[in-house]
Amino acid sequence: MNFSLTSEQETVQKSVRDFVAKEITPFAKEWDQEEKFPWDVWKKMGEVEIISTAVPEEYDGCGMDHITHAIVAEELGYGCSSIRGTYSVQISLVTKTILAWGNEDQKQKYVPRLATGEIMGCYGLTEPNSGSDAASLSTTAREDGDHYILKGNKMWITNANVADVAIIFAKTDPDAGARGITAFLVDKDTPGYSTQEIHEKLGLRASDTGEIILDNVRVPKENMLGPIGKGFRVALSALDNARFTVAAGCVGSAQSALDTSKSYAKERIQFDKPLAGHQLVQQLITNMTVDVECGRLLVYRAGYLKDEGVPNTRETSMAKYYCSEMVNRVAYNAIQVLGGYGFSAEYPVERIYRDARINTLYEGTSQIQQLILGNIELGIPAFK
Ligand SMILES: Cc1cc2nc3c(=O)[nH]c(=O)nc-3n(C[C@H](O)[C@H](O)[C@H](O)COP(=O)(O)OP(=O)(O)OC[C@H]3O[C@@H](n4cnc5c(N)ncnc54)[C@H](O)[C@@H]3O)c2cc1C
Repeated sequence: MNFSLTSEQETVQKSVRDFVAKEITPFAKEWDQEEKFPWDVWKKMGEVEIISTAVPEEYDGCGMDHITHAIVAEELGYGCSSIRGTYSVQISLVTKTILAWGNEDQKQKYVPRLATGEIMGCYGLTEPNSGSDAASLSTTAREDGDHYILKGNKMWITNANVADVAIIFAKTDPDAGARGITAFLVDKDTPGYSTQEIHEKLGLRASDTGEIILDNVRVPKENMLGPIGKGFRVALSALDNARFTVAAGCVGSAQSALDTSKSYAKERIQFDKPLAGHQLVQQLITNMTVDVECGRLLVYRAGYLKDEGVPNTRETSMAKYYCSEMVNRVAYNAIQVLGGYGFSAEYPVERIYRDARINTLYEGTSQIQQLILGNIELGIPAFK
């Protein structure tokens, strides 16, 4: 067993860390307050090959491993969860799903441009009346000659208003439950496709969120992603990738809250000594440190298994469940260390605290992760 990063992983870590410190962290507060996604920074991330880190070289990526991908997500999460969220969707939910399920034409058409950030992607599974119970989705895809006609609404979709292509899950056989779902690649310019912005979110305010309206959208059959009726499997495989990225991002955000707490505790004087000299504050810092380290180890273990190409749903779900709860605990404790100052936007822990909240909700809530893990531990098949 080896807990060290390779020299290549260390090099990526350093360069992304430098990029985040210079281009992201100093501006994250402003983007949050203005609910503005920094497209100029995203473009630069494409130019310096941060977006394409884990995309295979034959599709204009850097071809790096899952641990390196986690390192990138962690560093982005350290600076700004909204950017980390956009990266998660672009690479883990969209690009990797096309790589896993797409035919060669689809891969050539979309992946290189997604990898470089030239186009944006989004993933449309959730609907107004279907969230955790994703198989109950009601968007339909009706066969019509060489096309399918998509009708329905998708809710809470990250990148919805800025995506050039959406992966849309729809029922090709409404009576077949999860086995009646098929995935489609839908280009934004297709007639009948429109979006609606969602604002005033608690956190991730700099990330685009919206609703997708599919009003009889004619999609050619060649845009089907994966086999007919296998859409639910496509959706679950995408979530396995995204949960890993979310977990890594949580580690980064928690590390940022911890670092802020440590420096504040050394500077702030109360009762004639720094907060760091008070044992109950040390206890808070210690608990946060152990929490972050446990999360990181769970992420790296899941990444190791992904690199080995062996089943890892259990370890990925565990990492997502632990890290998403962990970042909420750590952000809460960080505000405790900073006292009243932690409650204001003067310090980043206030934003980290708000941004942290989404992680136990999307890509499968904590309850859904517990059900996945419970089923695995007890040998109960969740989906055949
Ligand atoms: C900012 C943001 C971005 C998002 N981005 C995307 C995206 O890009 N693409 C996409 O498809 N979706 C996206 N989502 C949707 C997200 O994945 C869903 O919100 C999530 O899956 C939960 O579904 P829900 O909100 O309908 O909650 P519900 O499913 O209604 O759940 C409500 C509560 O009930 C609990 N619950 C539900 N079922 C059970 C059960 N069987 N046992 C125990 N407890 C249960 C849940 O854990 C939760 O606590 C996003 C959401 C947000 C807020």
